[in-house]
Amino acid sequence: MIKRILKSSILVVLATVLFVGAALITGCASESLAPTSETTTGEASIVSDYPGLTSLVDFVGEENLSVMNLVGFKAADRAMKELGFEKSDPNVLALTDAGYIAKIGEYTTEKALDGVVMTSGLSRGKGNLANLHKAYNYPLWFAFFDKTSKDCVYLEPESESLKDYLDREKTDRDAALRDFMKLKDEEIFAMIAKENIDADRLLDNPEAWQEKMLAKVFGGNEFSIFTISNLWAMGLPNDFLKVAELHDHICPGLTSGYLIAEYVIKHFPASDPRNEYIVIAIPPWCKDDALIQIFETNVGHKRLFVKWLTKEQKEALPEEAKNVANIFINTKTNKGIVVGFDWDKAFEEAELPSEWLKDFETWHWWNLRLKMDICMMDHLDNPEALIFTIKEFTTTPEQIEKLKSAGVNPLVELGIMKP
Ligand SMILES: [Zn+2]
Repeated sequence: MIKRILKSSILVVLATVLFVGAALITGCASESLAPTSETTTGEASIVSDYPGLTSLVDFVGEENLSVMNLVGFKAADRAMKELGFEKSDPNVLALTDAGYIAKIGEYTTEKALDGVVMTSGLSRGKGNLANLHKAYNYPLWFAFFDKTSKDCVYLEPESESLKDYLDREKTDRDAALRDFMKLKDEEIFAMIAKENIDADRLLDNPEAWQEKMLAKVFGGNEFSIFTISNLWAMGLPNDFLKVAELHDHICPGLTSGYLIAEYVIKHFPASDPRNEYIVIAIPPWCKDDALIQIFETNVGHKRLFVKWLTKEQKEALPEEAKNVANIFINTKTNKGIVVGFDWDKAFEEAELPSEWLKDFETWHWWNLRLKMDICMMDHLDNPEALIFTIKEFTTTPEQIEKLKSAGVNPLVELGIMKP
């Protein structure tokens, strides 16, 4: 009896193998592997109503699809129509604070990032997605910049209504998703704006752009968006893009930090920067965000020490040290270097007066920064053009401890300035 059952089981298995084999040969297999338009619960897939969601749904899985994914989809979809670009266009850059720190109420926003990436085809890997650092309660926003036309579309979701849909999603996800998809873009986004942000245009017609700055056409993110976008269009290296993501914009101060890093890599290298360098920022400015990104010398890693210089202390600096920026010490070799940034030359090259830097009442402040950003791009491979060594020194573990500590002016300790 058992033998007979075994025999017939073997026959059944053999028949199945033959059938599947035949099906594979005749091509039925490809049909059976094709995505169905039904979910596992048997409900019709949202993709059958919105085929544009296919890539996103395939990527995140229909059972995980969230309104937060959909807001990214909606932003990308609208921008693609406004700018007239196809998926994965290498000429387009997406910028957003989604998925970093910014939240909508209690909801983190990383899923919106997937919505943007899977819909637009713009990604970190392709170097055309800038994910900017903003505070936890900063508004969620998206921007898309086309480097051929220099047009930029900005979208900012209406937070309260988005939060309502996210709340609803917890109890009735399917209805929340479907109702959200039915909304018009104008109901989802509090702001949808399109502007041409070509750097030449902004530099040549500053008054016209100043009006847009004051009107906050991009929700107050104008400076972040037009600096990063225009420099990306010029061929910003990817590590610089990562530096800009942390700092939220590109300014001459940040670029000076990138150049200091390049200079130190060449002239004072370390095999293990995070564990070998002590970096003293004296005085600190935007540059130090570049240094912590490139060398992993964060404050929290106890590798960056920040010392402010008062107006009086700055005035007391000798001429050769008046542009002092950072002290780098290698704790393995007990050697150190003090570096400076040639602000005067940087202003000269931009052919604009240095007083504009702090003139925040007019268009001068952003105009000067944009012009300097562009001029400084020429020096990315030649940091010596603007970075210089003020002093090289040999130190001891005891002195390093002192240089780092509260109440000590390291420039006095190293004999660069008088107490
Ligand atoms: Zn800055």
